[in-house]
Amino acid sequence: MQIAIRREPIEGERRVAATPATAAHYVSGGYEVVVERGAGALAGYPDEAYVDAGATLVDRVDLAAADVLAHVRPLDAATVAALRPGAVTVGFAAPAGSLDTVAALAERGVTAFSLELVPRISRAQSMDALTSQALIAGYRCVLEAATRFPRFFPLYMTAAGTIPPAKVLVLGAGVAGLQAIATAKRLGAKVSAYDVRSASADEVRSMGGTFIHLDLDENADAAGGYAKELAADRAARQRELLAPHVHAADIVITTAAIPGRPAPRLITADMLTGMSAGSVIVDLAAESGGNVEGSVAGVDTPVAVAGGAVTIVGMKDPASTMAFDASRLLAQNIAQLIGLMTVDGALTPDFDDEVVAGACLTHDGAVRHEPIAQAVA
Ligand code: NAD
Repeated sequence: MQIAIRREPIEGERRVAATPATAAHYVSGGYEVVVERGAGALAGYPDEAYVDAGATLVDRVDLAAADVLAHVRPLDAATVAALRPGAVTVGFAAPAGSLDTVAALAERGVTAFSLELVPRISRAQSMDALTSQALIAGYRCVLEAATRFPRFFPLYMTAAGTIPPAKVLVLGAGVAGLQAIATAKRLGAKVSAYDVRSASADEVRSMGGTFIHLDLDENADAAGGYAKELAADRAARQRELLAPHVHAADIVITTAAIPGRPAPRLITADMLTGMSAGSVIVDLAAESGGNVEGSVAGVDTPVAVAGGAVTIVGMKDPASTMAFDASRLLAQNIAQLIGLMTVDGALTPDFDDEVVAGACLTHDGAVRHEPIAQAVA
């Protein structure tokens, strides 16, 4: 059975769906691995390493011959049309935002597994690519803030005077937020954090952050450990209560998200006026609507305040900026999912397995994930 790995066709994507190590793993499991020349180059994995791993290099993958296509970004229409009926795809599919592609995958008879749909249960942790990529995003956004901030993060007591530590505020303490807290702590900042979920206070404290309680009088816990969207009046109250904390911070990192919904607006333009000049806000949710009014993905936006400006950094593809390690973790997540479905060197999904069934987007001509199926219909 052939597993195909392409150069990711989307401009700017540096990650690759298989590293030489995972290619070797597939080969030892009985798969034939076909890799496009240069597929791993932008992530730092040279062609020769894939050859050493036992893969075959090709100029262009013949999609019609691939049994399994492992990919990073959601597939485009041309790719879906070129796959053979019965082929299996494994990768990020962004199903809620790619309904036409989902319909095309089903129509084409492709069995597609979406990494976003892998159940977030203990048994599936090794396949949880949302977590592995969010970890990178959380780390990276603090470094982006630090390089733009005209001051130190740690406390320095020198002969020339004492420099106080930077005050970092993290809003949204999920996987990325907790990594942001840990990274800012390692750099020596004073870190506080806030999240609407009731479990998050302990998680923030376990990372060494100070948890901020807001008197919102609402339980925002939803199924699966996620948050639910706040009603408009509660969201306004939340911003009102957050404002003094935002004003007091030197660095604000925002990571709040609601599955399947636009990112909640946590910081409005009005709230920026109380911040000190030189402060930096990094919006990790810039690509999904933005936690911060005025943030644009991939762009630094200066906003005038007394004495200078606050910089809003709209993060874009954070995992891709650290493509070597992002690919290493992502390729391992994909390999674990493929491994779960492999019997005697062949991909044989067992749909009685809750991880396999949960991650399956399309199979046998149908959209298998109920909410997406309803949206497609
Ligand atoms: P996410 O990316 O959907 O959201 C990020 C954070 O934003 C969440 O913590 C959420 O509570 C917060 N948020 C949403 N609205 C907010 C608002 N208005 N104000 C402030 N914060 C807001 O979530 P995630 O980081 O992918 O994961 C969140 C949950 O999933 C956590 O409970 C985590 O422990 C759980 N999880 C479990 C597993 C597992 O068991 N395998 C793996 C990963 C994550």
